[in-house]
Amino acid sequence: MQVWKFGGTSVGKPERMRSIRNLITADSTRKIVVLSALSGSTNALLAIGESLKTSNDDDATTKIDALRAHYDTFVSELYATEAGKAAGLQIIESEFSFIRSLAGIKPFTVKQEKELVAEGELLSTQLFQAYLVEEGVASTLLPALDFMRIDADNEPEIQVTEQILAEMLPAHDDKQIIVTQGFICRNPRGEVDNLKRGGSDYTASLIGGAVRADEIQIWTDIDGMHNNDPRIVKNTFPVRELTFDEAAELAYFGAKILHPSTITPARMFGVPVRLKNTMEPAAPGTLIADRTSSEVFKAVAAKDGITALYIHSTRMLNAYGFLRRIFEIFEKYKTPVDMLATSEVSVSVTIDNTERIQEISEELSAFCTLEEPDYDQTIICVVGNFSADNEGVALKVFKAMENIPIRMISYGGTESNLSLLVHSKYKVDALNALNDGLFAR
Ligand code: ADP
Ligand code: ASP
Ligand code: MG
Repeated sequence: MQVWKFGGTSVGKPERMRSIRNLITADSTRKIVVLSALSGSTNALLAIGESLKTSNDDDATTKIDALRAHYDTFVSELYATEAGKAAGLQIIESEFSFIRSLAGIKPFTVKQEKELVAEGELLSTQLFQAYLVEEGVASTLLPALDFMRIDADNEPEIQVTEQILAEMLPAHDDKQIIVTQGFICRNPRGEVDNLKRGGSDYTASLIGGAVRADEIQIWTDIDGMHNNDPRIVKNTFPVRELTFDEAAELAYFGAKILHPSTITPARMFGVPVRLKNTMEPAAPGTLIADRTSSEVFKAVAAKDGITALYIHSTRMLNAYGFLRRIFEIFEKYKTPVDMLATSEVSVSVTIDNTERIQEISEELSAFCTLEEPDYDQTIICVVGNFSADNEGVALKVFKAMENIPIRMISYGGTESNLSLLVHSKYKVDALNALNDGLFAR
């Protein structure tokens, strides 16, 4: 069994949906096919939600009508037969009547917003399954809301998924293709929830781990993980092989091609992940597995929206208790720390979630002096094979960065990551400088 995930652009046009039907049936491997919403739909649904939250009902109606028109055209172009078109139309009738009923609920809360945004994946998968039926492909649609769960901390409950799928799948042994929704899940209250933006990648990896798939394939609009952000840097190129650790660091530190947590379940169960290009299926893409290749520098990624805090000890504590006290406070407010630098009496940390910064700062102030936080920072993460006997790694990175002010450095946390914190205004220069310095071909 393999798990194949197709992103928004891969399902965003009728001709793309037709081509993925050909891709998934080109060989006889059984596949769980995870789909995102059609490109633009999640943003459109969130925009409708924004109008409803601010009681701008006319705006919401205009936006719902526009989205409905988009799906009408999609259905009229996707199916070849009258029966296919009728099935497609029935799907959009039913989902849009639900969307309109949600829009009538006052007040429009987070619960309704999550139900609304889930419609993107509910629509794309039902339309695709109806297309597979029209094409005579042996397939079924398994609703992700029946087996994807998150706990009270928003963490996926992979054992629950494993257990439910083990019960559900045998009934579909005669189906080569099992279609399901990416992104959406249920929370402990039984409500519709999601795995955050870009979460369909994470769904694919969670399912791949839960069913111990032979391989997880993430199909998107580019030929694999590039060595640098192709939206910002020219002359990037695909990296053929990455270890789980390298790929996890790149995803966590901003490589948008993968949701930040995608690699965790795949690594836990040792399932290889292949990144492939729907527009260019013959391109080799990137293989993420348990083995490494010989290059020292593999890739660079950047994560924006970082805040750095300087925390000085007031020396009221023993040095050995200082870090524990600090991190207990971040733990209490469920705020992960990404980077860390220490001196004799001070610590500098970065966070990307500033929701609880007020409470954190107040509690830290009881035994530390805090400076004004540095907002608008970017973590630049250089990934590669940096084992301790590999000489000159830091030198090459610093040489490339010689004209860019660096706020913090982290090296040695793993053998695969060297991170630098810079003000976000230097991000583009830093990514380009590293490209020239580390990857010039
Ligand atoms: P999908 O809709 O298929 O999930 P995404 O837009 O989420 O696709 O991710 C693919 C995009 O990620 C690419 O088009 C590319 O612009 C962007 N991207 C950012 N960093 C990288 C990188 N290092 N390698 C490849 N793509 C990247
Ligand atoms: N449709 C969701 C989003 O746009 C999930 C995904 O595409 O992975 O964020
Ligand atoms: Mg994505």
